Amino acid sequence: MEPTDSAPATSNITVRRGEPLVVVKDVNKNFGDLHVLKNINTVVTRGEVVVVIGPSGSGKSTLCRAINRLETIDSGSITIDGQALPAEGKALARLRADVGMVFQSFNLFAHKTVLDNVTLGPIKVRGLSRAAAEEKAMALLERVGVANQAHKMPAQLSGGQQQRVAIARALAMDPKVILLDEPTSALDPEMINEVLEVMIQLANDGMTMIVVTHEMGFARKAANRVIFMADGEIIEETTPEHFFTDPQTDRAKDFLSKLI
Ligand code: ADP
Ligand code: MG
Repeated sequence: MEPTDSAPATSNITVRRGEPLVVVKDVNKNFGDLHVLKNINTVVTRGEVVVVIGPSGSGKSTLCRAINRLETIDSGSITIDGQALPAEGKALARLRADVGMVFQSFNLFAHKTVLDNVTLGPIKVRGLSRAAAEEKAMALLERVGVANQAHKMPAQLSGGQQQRVAIARALAMDPKVILLDEPTSALDPEMINEVLEVMIQLANDGMTMIVVTHEMGFARKAANRVIFMADGEIIEETTPEHFFTDPQTDRAKDFLSKLI
């Protein structure tokens, strides 16, 4: 692993200076009169785990959605592994499959079994046979600890189990990067840890991750970098250790004081 120039000696995770995987350059986004992303620049390298935090309405979800092209941008560029996301069609579906997405509200297909939720994308977008897709899905469901729920409908599962299925579904596409937008915010407190543990495992396995979360434990344990956003801007961008112990701006200090 490369030595780093920015990780303090106290950090237990080395910041990996790998090749750029997600490159966000001069991105602006408006909703009507509202300027929700203001000249956003950041680079996520392969194997890096980036936590995005900030007050509600600061543009975190819009940034995630823009990276997956669920949202268009007004100016700037976003590339995934060197490629710009095409506007539409099959090319978009294929490239979008490189970016796994997990939402706060799970968003599983309610009328399909857990297994079908995980096999659908690989069959339709990646062209896997049903048998191959099912074998892969079962291995992933095993990995997130819900293999015994494979033939149930999503509503029969707890929130924590559904979110783990959503993570397995995202992984089934062999994404290059996975975005998780407040993945534990809709969960009952007793279910948060089982999802965080799966996320920490993923991070340890080397998955490139962008995670919007206020779970400081996850950030401290698994993140290489924290991006603090407020009012559509990146205000601070540093290691978790540095951010939590020595925030540089009043806005970050204020945010952290309300959080803990
Ligand atoms: P966060 O995820 O940090 O809470 P969002 O990215 O969801 O913030 O929202 C940023 C701002 O953009 C908010 O003011 C929100 O109300 C606004 N916004 C988000 N989506 C839309 C939309 N589809 N239409 C209009 N305004 C939106
Ligand atoms: Mg949000």
